[in-house]
Amino acid sequence: MTAHAAVLRRLPSVDEVLKTSAACAAVEQFGRPAAVAAVRSALDETRTALRTGGVVVAADTATADTVAQAALARLVAAAWPAVRPVFNLTGVVLHTNLGRAVLAEAAIEAAVAAMRQAVALEFDLSTGRRGERDSLVRDLLCELTGAEDATVVNNNAAAVLLVLNTLAKGREAVVSRGELIEIGGAFRMPDIMARAGARLVEVGTTNRTHAKDYAEALTERTGLVLKVHTSNYRIEGFTASVPARDLVALAREKNVPLVDDLGSGTLIDLARFGLAHEPTVAEAVAAGADLVTFSGDKLLGGPQAGLVVGRKDLIQKISRNPMKRALRVDKIRLAALEATLKLYRDPDRLADRLPTIRHLARPYDGIAAQARRLCPVLAAALGETFAVAVADCRSQIGSGALPLETLSSAGLSARPCTERGAGRTLDKLAQALRELPVPVVGRVADGALVLDLRCLDDEAAFAQNLAGLAGAADALA
Ligand SMILES: *Cc1c(COP(=O)(O)O)cnc(C)c1O
Repeated sequence: MTAHAAVLRRLPSVDEVLKTSAACAAVEQFGRPAAVAAVRSALDETRTALRTGGVVVAADTATADTVAQAALARLVAAAWPAVRPVFNLTGVVLHTNLGRAVLAEAAIEAAVAAMRQAVALEFDLSTGRRGERDSLVRDLLCELTGAEDATVVNNNAAAVLLVLNTLAKGREAVVSRGELIEIGGAFRMPDIMARAGARLVEVGTTNRTHAKDYAEALTERTGLVLKVHTSNYRIEGFTASVPARDLVALAREKNVPLVDDLGSGTLIDLARFGLAHEPTVAEAVAAGADLVTFSGDKLLGGPQAGLVVGRKDLIQKISRNPMKRALRVDKIRLAALEATLKLYRDPDRLADRLPTIRHLARPYDGIAAQARRLCPVLAAALGETFAVAVADCRSQIGSGALPLETLSSAGLSARPCTERGAGRTLDKLAQALRELPVPVVGRVADGALVLDLRCLDDEAAFAQNLAGLAGAADALA
């Protein structure tokens, strides 16, 4: 009999494994059926490993205890939520792949309360009759933007789709060639137009579009004129574009609605916080756009949502579109949105209360001081393999807001001490950081892994989390 076969025969039975303390803990925590299944598959795996001979398991290592431990570890790993909180140390404040805006405490509390109880979502408390969910945030949106009316849908992509479908289905939508954007996640303006049933009429050229180009394109077939914020790029050099304000007279004369898709759409002048000026929604409304669309979870700092503000008659038309029903938001997001919007009533305290603005406005000195405090902690966790240092870096706003603007920031850099295989060593480090209890996401640049600390709120939790690298440090070497 081979050594493998001998071990196979001596493998514990499912019942034996289930008697161990680790298996009892697994039953307690995850329920009997899940624990039994996990023990079975841990045993199967050991058996397969032995049969194929790929792994030589010493006779006494596959005991009831080790099998139970393996089963428990498997159950614990499977219990991690798939929607996993992470430390966003990429330096991109509004990172679409990391869930964009982190919500304000007020928004979190409002969302939790709405989840826990029934809410007056479409119920008018003054009359006891049926109400309308948009009415819950309409007044706030009007107050903050100066618009006549407002509506809310799933996201800004939905807002643009709905506006196009309502105003330009079977008609023409006029857009500058310089503004036919593609943003992440396959949102391409021409495709959205087609899906909305609108015929795209491109005017001007990639680099230059003039008012007369629009004037020549407006006919009785025109459904709307669309201005699109070129969120994630800039055309530089010999360029010309027509600001929405300069199209107002033309659109009015031809009786065609002028729609301004702002994308990020901030509600407050970011220059207050030392950032570059980005047109606010109120400015776009005041400039004369008939409708303005923008996102809830970009610069606004709230939950995912698409907001449409503007002329009452147009908003009502949009609200009557059957597609609106398919794109509406639920009570949880409405609650979070309302609470977020209310914070804008007190701009002086916004940077304290709204994480997006807090992160964007964070001064360099504070970030650098935090980096100096955390540098020895990371150095200790990584051991001899890496040189850890405080490093200056540049953060980005992200989500297509001010794409060329970067913010002076600081963080930690970890550079492999030996040149040989440095790339692989860095990859392993990035992976080890992603495997921490709270995964840490940084970025690799110029031969080092950089953790930009701009968005790090909980320093103590971060330091404690790094302790999880202790076991991995040797493996990294
Ligand atoms: C981001 C963006 C959108 C899409 O908004 P979502 O909220 O991501 O759906 C549409 N238009 C512009 C100009 C954008 O920047």
